[in-house]
Amino acid sequence: AKEQGRNALQFYDAAMTAAAAERLAMKAQLAQALERGQFFLHYQPLVEAGSGRPVGVEALLRWRSEAFGLVSPATFIPLTEESGLIVAIGRWVLDTACRQARAWELAGQPPIEIAVNLSPRQLRDPELVEHVRGVLDRSGLDPSRLVLEITEGLLIEDMALSRRVLASLKRLGIRLALDDFGTGYSSLSYLNSLPFDILKMDGSFTRNLTDGQASNTGGQAIARAIIALGQSLNMLLVAEGVETAEQHAWLTRNGCDLVQGYHFGRPAAADDVTGVLQGLALA
Ligand code: C2E
Ligand code: CA
Ligand code: CA
Ligand code: CA
Repeated sequence: AKEQGRNALQFYDAAMTAAAAERLAMKAQLAQALERGQFFLHYQPLVEAGSGRPVGVEALLRWRSEAFGLVSPATFIPLTEESGLIVAIGRWVLDTACRQARAWELAGQPPIEIAVNLSPRQLRDPELVEHVRGVLDRSGLDPSRLVLEITEGLLIEDMALSRRVLASLKRLGIRLALDDFGTGYSSLSYLNSLPFDILKMDGSFTRNLTDGQASNTGGQAIARAIIALGQSLNMLLVAEGVETAEQHAWLTRNGCDLVQGYHFGRPAAADDVTGVLQGLALA
């Protein structure tokens, strides 16, 4: 039994070491991914709940590496946050997304909003606000079209800094969304003291509206509470992870302003999204 325990431990050690080695190898590859042109963006429609019309898209980062194939941002973004590389990558994302949004406009699409994810780590970049201003100038995109989505995570670590930077961003005329709301940190205390315009209810709450086919009354009560909170703070409410017509109907009935999820369109390359936006607009 003792022998067995030791073997299990060795196996565990070996697995840990392999995982750590892979993370190191990924970090090394990530350092060169920008210059090698390995990043690209997918876009997912944001849809007005009541009318079903698209009002915007969220830009979602993708990384295709030779060694690792297509890697999920959930895996590689944390690695770039540790190394600080997220600042340079984040600038590339912002630049690319705003130019794409402007290109759609110039091609005759009705103006839509473009939502870009911002790592809280980027708030510590002293040039962030100037960079956003520069991107808006260069792309010609109206600031009111840009939404920056920020997850709660690190915001509370340095409240003074968060408050100052978010206020400066708001003065550019852009809007701010609190992403993944309801997961993680004790959001309620600072929800009121940071200048967010939009509340994005995490996809887990959409999923919990039902247990398979049966409705989940507990899950519905929680979603209702989140929606009521956003409404009473005068925030626009977005529900993420909407995969079924039933979820869409429930969320619309209960006061969500916008919906997003596979039911309306998966994240896709800009060219493919153009068609999806037109299709949704005509529906
Ligand atoms: P997020 O900002 O909460 O983005 C929503 C995630 O849910 C995306 O995953 C999207 O593909 C996925 N999703 C959309 N609709 C559905 C649905 O109906 N069902 C399900 N199951 N999933 C859905 P993705 O693209 O893998 O991105 C994961 C996370 O990575 C994002 O979560 C965001 O936190 C981060 N991320 C992505 N792009 C960027 C970026 O450019 N910068 C930063 N800092 N983070 C990013
Ligand atoms: Ca987001
Ligand atoms: Ca989210
Ligand atoms: Ca998320």
